[in-house]
Amino acid sequence: MQIVAKCPTCDAGLPVDAADGTSTIRCGRCSTEIPLSFTVAVRTDRAVDRCPVCGGGDFYTRKDFDPKVGVAIVAIGAIASAVFYWFGRDLIAYGILAAAALIDLAVYGWLKDLTVCYRCHSEFRGAYERSAPAFDLHTADVLELEYERKIGRR
Ligand SMILES: [Zn+2]
Ligand SMILES: [Zn+2]
Repeated sequence: MQIVAKCPTCDAGLPVDAADGTSTIRCGRCSTEIPLSFTVAVRTDRAVDRCPVCGGGDFYTRKDFDPKVGVAIVAIGAIASAVFYWFGRDLIAYGILAAAALIDLAVYGWLKDLTVCYRCHSEFRGAYERSAPAFDLHTADVLELEYERKIGRR
């Protein structure tokens, strides 16, 4: 299982391989030492049951979508359609815009799910079965506040 541990101090994303069973990582940006404690299920890529970074047991599942990719597809489509529009080829211009939107949708459909910790936002990718529910804003508000108080940010 691949984990992107979020630094509690500066929010930098730190890639960790759960199979290594590392007990601490040092943040590359702010040099904070972050203790990690992996459960057997996490280390063996069977399930995400407890967060190795914050110890929380509440997770949600979301699409592993990089917003930059979506923006890039739409931007390329917009530029291409503007060129055709300039030359009076309106239909082709609209067609390209529609195609760009469709490609975005298709890419979204192909994406795999990843699991995210509600409290510290660490991300989990692997072959384990996705069992966490979809994102819930209320749960996120409550758990993020609890976590930020615990680490002294509020
Ligand atoms: Zn940091
Ligand atoms: Zn966490």
